[in-house]
Amino acid sequence: MAQSTPASPLYNTYARADLVFERGEGMWLYTTDGEAFLDVMGGVAVNALGHAHPVLVEALKAQAEKLWHTSNVFRVAGQEKLGARLIEATFAEKVFFCNSGAEALECAIKTARRYHFAKGQPERNRLITFEGAFHGRTLATIAAGGQEKYLEGFGPKMDGFDQVPFGDHAALEAAIGPATAGILIEPIQGEGGIRQMPASCLKALRELCDKHGILLVLDEVQCGMGRTGKLFAHEWAGITPDIMAIAKSLGGGFPVGACLATAEAASGMVPGTHGSTYGGNPLAMAVANAVLEVMLAPGFLDSVAMKGLQLKQKLAGLVDAHPAVFETVRGSGLMLGLKCRVPSTEVVAGARDHKLLTVGAGDNVVRLLPALIITEAEMDQAIARLEATAVDIEAKLAAQSKKGAAA
Ligand SMILES: *Cc1c(COP(=O)(O)O)cnc(C)c1O
Repeated sequence: MAQSTPASPLYNTYARADLVFERGEGMWLYTTDGEAFLDVMGGVAVNALGHAHPVLVEALKAQAEKLWHTSNVFRVAGQEKLGARLIEATFAEKVFFCNSGAEALECAIKTARRYHFAKGQPERNRLITFEGAFHGRTLATIAAGGQEKYLEGFGPKMDGFDQVPFGDHAALEAAIGPATAGILIEPIQGEGGIRQMPASCLKALRELCDKHGILLVLDEVQCGMGRTGKLFAHEWAGITPDIMAIAKSLGGGFPVGACLATAEAASGMVPGTHGSTYGGNPLAMAVANAVLEVMLAPGFLDSVAMKGLQLKQKLAGLVDAHPAVFETVRGSGLMLGLKCRVPSTEVVAGARDHKLLTVGAGDNVVRLLPALIITEAEMDQAIARLEATAVDIEAKLAAQSKKGAAA
């Protein structure tokens, strides 16, 4: 088979763009040959404060000179500080730290199952999930996500997940049975294509869980940590979950995840039931504490909500101006998606030619997940580059239809 790139020592698991970045600053990434790219994908909702944020750099450097790793057989000061802060800012009363989103989900799934086990109902070990969901790439989380493209070839699908269509309340209610432990959902599906659960649906889920004595488990790995203009997306619906997985923006680029829970939901997680060698590592805790310090400063989250409205409005203008390329804009805060009429991969590649970094998603959507520090001038630059991309695509479409007419 023809191979255009040189033999790589790496697993062939990613369809990578042929770009290598050397450094970043704020919203900008610079290649080894000095080209500047405007980054509105933010490492897929990870670089919440942009690249090389001075507060984060300082926190990491200071911790690096003191202590990198001990072990969870000891108390870790940074975990206690970050845990207390997360509890103060959310519904949670207990926190477990890990290193990634999938691990946060693994902990959430185990916590939910173990809760019912400890209550004498070990048969309640199944979670209801939603079509289009993405919860990670471990064996349990690909089963939870239920997408064939991630499951194929990896042997028996782990049992314990029942999937229902997105937005079908009747199917959801019918799926709840004596073996149901809880409902697992992303308030806004990220990989699934920026598909948002309406606030009324989240409220209905909360009521269903209460009615059946089961747990509401939220995956806010992508939509959480300030992205929608509140610290967590579920806050807009005025509800609280029992368990919540977070990661991505939590570390602003340093790998870290966490599972948050009420004391009741976490009551089954006693010594020996779970662990992680690196989870809550002092370096990760130093950076995540710095991220929260910035995000929880007065006015920060309000500014994100404002910017989100601004950007969405600008994108709506773009959609109106280029109906052959774009269909709609969707999403909330700075978690926005452009549903495309042409393959979204073409838009992502075309934008890259104009030195704008976006990322695709399911449902033929191009995602914009910029750092929460984006300025209006940078938004306008992003829009201008998307305009130029759309113009290129329209020219190509016109040339194609001309050729078609001639043939
Ligand atoms: C990215 C993501 C995950 C998985 O996180 P990893 O850090 O890649 O393991 C899980 N859930 C959602 C909603 C995500 O966006």
